[in-house]
Amino acid sequence: MDETTAVREPVDLRSDTVTMPSDRMREAAANAPVGDDVYGEDPSVNDLEATAAEVLGTEAALYLPSGTMANQTAARVHTERGQEAIVETESHVVRYENAGFAQHSGVQIRPVDAGDRAVPSAAQVADAVIADDLHRPGTGLLCLENTHNAKGGLVATPDAIAAAAEAAHDRDVPVHLDGARLANAAVAADVPLSAFAAHVDSVSLCLSKGLGAPVGTVLAGSEAFVATARGVRKLLGGGMRQAGLIAAPARLALTENVARLADDHANANRLAAGIDGLDGLRAPARETNVVLVDTSESAIDAETFVERCADAGVLGSAFGPETVRFCTHLDVDTAAIETALERIETVVRSRRPSRKLNSVRRRRR
Ligand SMILES: *Cc1c(COP(=O)(O)O)cnc(C)c1O
Repeated sequence: MDETTAVREPVDLRSDTVTMPSDRMREAAANAPVGDDVYGEDPSVNDLEATAAEVLGTEAALYLPSGTMANQTAARVHTERGQEAIVETESHVVRYENAGFAQHSGVQIRPVDAGDRAVPSAAQVADAVIADDLHRPGTGLLCLENTHNAKGGLVATPDAIAAAAEAAHDRDVPVHLDGARLANAAVAADVPLSAFAAHVDSVSLCLSKGLGAPVGTVLAGSEAFVATARGVRKLLGGGMRQAGLIAAPARLALTENVARLADDHANANRLAAGIDGLDGLRAPARETNVVLVDTSESAIDAETFVERCADAGVLGSAFGPETVRFCTHLDVDTAAIETALERIETVVRSRRPSRKLNSVRRRRR
């Protein structure tokens, strides 16, 4: 590490998954009563699952290692091989889950572009559902996402979820809600998490994103759904043993860190407002904690912008050729956002031409 790179702590806005467990979470982990969760004997896991079911207003819930496993498990439970799943074109299950619906469930994707909305309209869902006949697969699932990650943490209201879900249910199609950031949606819409969950057959919620848990996602639904999902989790290799060590801090994330997401949303707006209008950069105001920066009118592409920001001490992610994502979270306070903005301004002011730098990077993404 040379002198110029031995700078300062970077402000890490790559994702809301980068948060460190608090001292209280570490204590909860150290003191958690545990047992073998595959036998259903881990009191801390059972406690988390009961709490999650209560918060989401469902009969039951299941603790899984990741949000990806939760979505894949839900798809496997709801569908039969050879069916289709209706999904938003830019949803996480399409972009980032390794074609898991095809691999684990033998299900084909029917993408529906919801445009500037987070979820498809009732009419779009109705149009996309197909009946099962000799030549056609039949629709086995509608999978919604809230908040919508690729659309910049866009919120779907409970009414929008209800409308899409009703169109599916009217045609006997079950609905899964990928609620990785559902707590952000709840805080932004000022409703309880259960207001969304009430309309769907299963819902996932990441505890390891904005809520700050070290590990895990809950998947909730009816007793019958969760009983089957428990078997699928085992099939996928997600049966865990003394998992109370991670479930106890995850429960704290759920009981204590929801309301404070409003701070992350305010910080994201502050960041977006500061970036918007800087030398060809556009960053529209956001409802939640995901800031998307459009670099298309600036002299540099997204990759280069991310590299230069990293050199200046602000970490983000290239989210497309001309889109950069910054995520706010509980380890960046308002002062850190101001620092990030100052550093981003220096990057923009330096106006170096857009080409890859050869210097050795201190940090790799
Ligand atoms: C992060 C995320 C997931 C997957 O969560 P992992 O725990 O990283 O597997 C699923 N859906 C959405 C919308 C996400 O943002």
